[in-house]
Amino acid sequence: MAYQIPRGTADVYGSKSYAWQELEQRLRQFCFLYNYDEIRTPIFEHTNVFKRENDSSDMVNKEMYTFTLANSSTSLTLRPEGTAGVVRSFVENKMYSNPDLPVKLYYMGPMFRHERPQKGRMRIFNQFGVECLGNKSPYVDVETITLAFSILKSLGLKDIKVCLNTLGDDASRDAYRSALKEHFAPYYDELCSDCKRRFEQNPLRILDCKVDHDKEFMKNAPSMKDYLNEESKQYFETVCSLLKSLDIPYEVDDKLVRGLDYYTHTVFEIVSVNSSMGAQSTVLAGGRYDHLIPYFGGPEQMSGIGWALGMERILIALESEGILLEEKPGLDAFVMCLDKEAQTYAFEILTQLRANGFRADMDYLQRGFKGQFKAVARTQAKFAIIIGSTELENQVVSIKNIETQVQSQVPVQQIIEYLDKEFE
Ligand code: ATP
Ligand code: MG
Repeated sequence: MAYQIPRGTADVYGSKSYAWQELEQRLRQFCFLYNYDEIRTPIFEHTNVFKRENDSSDMVNKEMYTFTLANSSTSLTLRPEGTAGVVRSFVENKMYSNPDLPVKLYYMGPMFRHERPQKGRMRIFNQFGVECLGNKSPYVDVETITLAFSILKSLGLKDIKVCLNTLGDDASRDAYRSALKEHFAPYYDELCSDCKRRFEQNPLRILDCKVDHDKEFMKNAPSMKDYLNEESKQYFETVCSLLKSLDIPYEVDDKLVRGLDYYTHTVFEIVSVNSSMGAQSTVLAGGRYDHLIPYFGGPEQMSGIGWALGMERILIALESEGILLEEKPGLDAFVMCLDKEAQTYAFEILTQLRANGFRADMDYLQRGFKGQFKAVARTQAKFAIIIGSTELENQVVSIKNIETQVQSQVPVQQIIEYLDKEFE
């Protein structure tokens, strides 16, 4: 019986792991620059953290990995997204009493959704996200969008587009919801089974349907902007004008609703417009949520905003644009041991190299000169440190600079000094 990885999951190894590390590091650096702190929440939470009253999203209704252990009545769910856990922690740890609001947090790690696997759509995937909690100001909206855009630009992505919309406040949403219901009612029978459910629970979500997307009744559906009250309109206009003043290019898409139920006011996506991205072209998505903090028991009226990017999708987008983040770097030195007698001597030298900060390795297969020299090439070592019986006897090593081909004999006590000079 062969063992195979579960569908919709992936192993990351070899040169890919370097691209991942580089991406993670760059994301962290950007957050440091913008004064966001890391938060690490559990990978599973109580199910009710994700499954909230009246939630109509597919993610909550169909895609969650929920389990109850034997001898327990506690239902737990592997997190399908990051925001809910972060807001739960924000409230539970009373971070809202911080004098400097918003509290600005970022997270990174695996998310779990039982979806049909496709390119860019996995069952375990990794998100990097930010949440800005406890302050409702168009400046905060624009800060998070600017952070998102700047990160993607700095990674070198060019074929990206920011799409923006507002869902308005509760009053505006209620008005829009009624208008949508009225609009879709005559077509109820033509709606897909999910949209029939959405029609009752949250007709806004019909606009996000991937099945009914191209039907005529979708195209002439009423537009959110006609149902915004003055306050919501004003808020959105300020967001737009601030983005303009910062030269962040964006497009308003008044059918953009996003996949999660908790959004109010500003929602946005960054999509890759590169033709080889395939159907999964949304690399980052987010929005403001007015009700989530109070839902978890935090102060009434306290609002948050955040976004998450799919790290796998970012890596696909980078590949589509021919951008290589990082390859496995070469070694500083490879120790070639050509005599079994000298192996311990070679091993001690290797250990000394590492203790002095040189990235080094050696041959453990006792291969001949040719075999070991091929390993030097494969590891892209800058120096080969060659050790045989003569070197052992005289307490020296031969150091060969692979680029210049210059080879010198160096006394064992002077290896570090010699290499320090070479690397200057
Ligand atoms: P989609 O419309 O593509 O299903 P979503 O609305 O479910 O996305 P969010 O929950 O907003 O997405 O997640 C934010 C980002 O996380 C997405 O833009 C995407 O880059 C990434 N993402 C979401 N689901 C997956 C998945 N199953 N596999 C890989 N990446 C994903
Ligand atoms: Mg989805």
